Amino acid sequence: MTRPGITVDIVAALQERLGSGDVFVDGPDVAPFMVDWWGRAAGDALCVVLPRGTGDVAKTVALCHDHSVPIYPQGGNTSVCFGAVPPARSGGIVLSLARMDAVLDVNPRDSAMTVQAGCLLAKAQAAALEVDRLFPLSLGAEGSCQIGGNIATNAGGTGVLRYGNMRDLVLGLEVVLPDGRIWNGLRTLRKDNSGYDLKNLFIGAEGTLGIITAAALKLFPIQPNVVSALIALPEIDGAVTVGTDLGTAFPGELTALELFSASQLRLVARHIANAACPLALDSPWFLLVDIASATSCKVLSERLVDRLAGATDAGLVADAVVAANERQRAALWHIRHSVTEANKTAGMGLSHDIAVPVFAVPSFVCLAGDAIGRAFPTAEIVIVGHLGDGNLHYNVMFGHDAWARVTDQARTRLEVSRILYDLAAQHRGTFSAEHGIGALHLEEMARYKDPVELDLMRTIKRRFDPRNIMNPFRVLPSAGCDKGSHL
Ligand SMILES: Cc1cc2nc3c(=O)[nH]c(=O)nc-3n(C[C@H](O)[C@H](O)[C@H](O)COP(=O)(O)OP(=O)(O)OC[C@H]3O[C@@H](n4cnc5c(N)ncnc54)[C@H](O)[C@@H]3O)c2cc1C
Repeated sequence: MTRPGITVDIVAALQERLGSGDVFVDGPDVAPFMVDWWGRAAGDALCVVLPRGTGDVAKTVALCHDHSVPIYPQGGNTSVCFGAVPPARSGGIVLSLARMDAVLDVNPRDSAMTVQAGCLLAKAQAAALEVDRLFPLSLGAEGSCQIGGNIATNAGGTGVLRYGNMRDLVLGLEVVLPDGRIWNGLRTLRKDNSGYDLKNLFIGAEGTLGIITAAALKLFPIQPNVVSALIALPEIDGAVTVGTDLGTAFPGELTALELFSASQLRLVARHIANAACPLALDSPWFLLVDIASATSCKVLSERLVDRLAGATDAGLVADAVVAANERQRAALWHIRHSVTEANKTAGMGLSHDIAVPVFAVPSFVCLAGDAIGRAFPTAEIVIVGHLGDGNLHYNVMFGHDAWARVTDQARTRLEVSRILYDLAAQHRGTFSAEHGIGALHLEEMARYKDPVELDLMRTIKRRFDPRNIMNPFRVLPSAGCDKGSHL
């Protein structure tokens, strides 16, 4: 169990400090921590540590720091960038926050709640609802992902248009630093200009600067009435126009603006029960919108129908359905939440999480469609996206058999990504909108990030974690992408 160059048996030392019930070495207790949600990345570790509190995390990190043992923090393990599982022969430990899942405080008078980092997102949402408040982060993995993981990846999801990314929802953090010290920044202040805003360094750092152990989060009033509609559109340009128009017509009330290609809705209908599209799939584009407000559903629906009638007259909208009740609304959102599962079942989806400025979405979609169509004529383009954020999940789908026949799969992946990421860069966009970098996008970091930006990031990493023990070989590529040197 001893790593080369390490004079102490780290597992025995951890078991002694924490108790053997918190440190797992092998067997079925350990296996799920080593494979990612998609089953596409797997690694190994000396042990899995499941601390019960911040003090345990600090003891674990201090010990690993003293002996330069890598730590791979893990939340709900739903990362789509291979960020939460250790690499093969990692020689490190997995530190899972799963047992630190308490809701510590919910205060509607402060519109804030404080939770441990291992609290499931769904549990945090439910705790807010109990005091008649909304915690607005919402994404497909909410039953499995944890608040700490959401913060570490600066998660997005379907509520960003109205409420912002996770970064916008965090008021304060408690973090165990790479040397084992605890930083207690667990404040619920709305204003605090007393020096650098340190919490923002840890948000989106994917566990490379420290371990988030607790968070103070913003809560919002619940908008009692929500109206949803599904809209069919003949042109992608029209989708942006209609989305912008709805934002103007419903200021502060438009809370979701989700885009689907018809191909995406077809896949969902084919693979998921009770998820057929209520509109004919003969238009190429569809929008799912939510309007949430204190105004009655009846008035909201009338205003929405009026607006859509105008857009139909202008030739922007082909057809639309406004949910008449909560059951119909849930059915529309069932389609949206089924996308990941449907795509996973349908074949090999080469998935890309790009973002461009909203106005540039039509240009990106047209140029990308042409380029992918020319290079990979048998692949199907399947798009779902958060249009209001300019964020497209752009899937290039190969059926299982077709993918098995691809002779050089790695090269195909690379060629597809190059086309899409180069185009995103040309549109002043990004290759990673909301999923992060993990171990997946190191080459893209080297290729597309401004060198000065990368240099500043490396400087921060070196200052915080000079021994490079916190989630090493994630987020930051080494100069020349040599994984051996990393910093
Ligand atoms: C079906 C599905 C739908 C999804 N939809 C969306 C979506 O709409 N929007 C979106 O943004 N993402 C989405 N994701 C991606 C994923 O759910 C999010 O990135 C989520 O925020 C990760 O949380 P987690 O707890 O699972 O973290 P993990 O996957 O366990 O970890 C993610 C990263 O954070 C680090 N980390 C985890 N916990 C901590 C901690 N306490 N302290 C420090 N570092 C930590 C890990 O080391 C890793 O680098 C989806 C994933 C799935 C499977």
